[in-house]
Formats: sequence, C-alpha cells, structure tokens
Amino acid sequence: MGRGLVLVGLIASSILFAQPKRVLYVTYTAGFRHDSIPVSIDVLRGLAPAQLEVTATEDLATITAESLQAFDAVFFFTSGELPISDGQKSALLEFVRGGKGFGGAHSATDTFYTWPEYKNLIGATFDGHPWTQRVRMMIEDPTNPIVSHLAPGFEIDDEIYQFRDFSRRRLRVLMRLDTSSVDLSAPGINRTDGDFASAWVQPYEQGRVFYTALGHFDSTWRDPRFQQMLRNALLWLTGQIEIPAHRVRRSNRGWPWATR
Ligand SMILES: [Zn+2]
Repeated sequence: MGRGLVLVGLIASSILFAQPKRVLYVTYTAGFRHDSIPVSIDVLRGLAPAQLEVTATEDLATITAESLQAFDAVFFFTSGELPISDGQKSALLEFVRGGKGFGGAHSATDTFYTWPEYKNLIGATFDGHPWTQRVRMMIEDPTNPIVSHLAPGFEIDDEIYQFRDFSRRRLRVLMRLDTSSVDLSAPGINRTDGDFASAWVQPYEQGRVFYTALGHFDSTWRDPRFQQMLRNALLWLTGQIEIPAHRVRRSNRGWPWATR
C-alpha cells in the first residue's frame, strides 16, 4: 500500500514537473513561400504545450552545434537553398545522428537541392505537384502510433507532391496517395510506378526522422486529423512516445513496392 502510494506520487510528480521538450521550427524560405506558414506556427505551438515547447524562427544562425543543444528536435517548413554554412549543415546532421529528431512538412523536401546528404536526411526530393484537389490517402501502417488515428481512405484537399530520390529501401512509408482518386494522365507526372508517398519515418543513425508531404493550405494545418499526426510525430521525434524499431525501419512488406 505504502509503496503503491509512493509510486503514484512519483508518477504524478514526473507528470507535473516534466519539462516540455523543445522543438525548433524553421520557416525560412529561399524559394516559394507558403501562405500557410503563419497558421502552421500557431498550430505547432498549440499542439501539446505541456509536452512540446515550439520556438518558431527564421533566424538560421540558430542552427549551430551550440544553440541546437537547447533543442530536442528541429522541424522544417522551408524552401530553396537556405543560406547556411557547411559547418551549420554538419551541426544539423550531427544533432540528428546523435539521437535527436528531425521533421519536415510539405516544402521541406523543396529545400537544399545542392546538399546531397539533405535528401538522405529527409528522405526524398520534391519533383513537382501534379494535383491540387481533394484526394484519398491510404494508410500503409495503420498500427503505427503516428497515423493510427487516421481512417483508411481518408480524404483531404491539398497540393499533392511527387518525389525523386525516394526509396522504400530506406523509408518506412506511413501514408500514400490512393491513385484511383486522381487523374494519372495529368501533366507533370514523372513517376511510372504510381508510388506517391505522403508521410514516412526513418532512423538516421541514433536519431529519428519524420516527413509529411501535406501542408500546402491553411485548411490542412487546421485539420484536426493532420494536427494529431503532427502531435504524434513530434512526441516521437522528441522521445516522448516510442515506436518499435522494426516499425520505423523500411520494409512495408506485403505492399507491391516492397522490393524497390
Ligand atoms: Zn505547396
């Protein structure tokens, strides 16, 4: 009984006094700038204030080995060639490799085309957006805690990305476009395999990476289903929820693209 009460007290105090984990949200754009950035900042700040303290910045000087020590994860809604030095790039990679989190939304893949390692970090390179319309999304890993709240075949209005430098050998895809909900003869389609992934995770040495291609419109950021996915992802990126390692590594066994 006494021991039980002590345990309850310890759990309660760890909940009451736990500090929120810190997320650096970078919205600097050197290319296209999305109108949804201000809404996205409000949304990320309000996701889970007791667990996630989100610092939004356009000051790229924050990306140094020293100042990143204050953060548990970095999240990008960026575009183009961000003007940071090779040393800053190394600092970001070492931050993630050492066990921290890196996440991105939408045009985070439309970023750093001339930095080869960046596409390995985030998982792919933007290659146009063939559709801007209501689409249906397939949930590929329905028991994964990041997307387990999403109904299979949920519909959403957004600008839908196509990727190159994308491989299921490296990434664990969580969500992809249901191609029966779009016109596959639309202009600008380069992929011939019908594989339009819209969210994935991967380990990056000791660190964790999450990306979602959604996020073009304010309405996406205001969508409670999208917000829940981001909340889950940021809690995972900051080590506040765990996903078994085999559900983070690539595989997608049983899906037609498993061998690619
Ligand atoms: Zn967009």
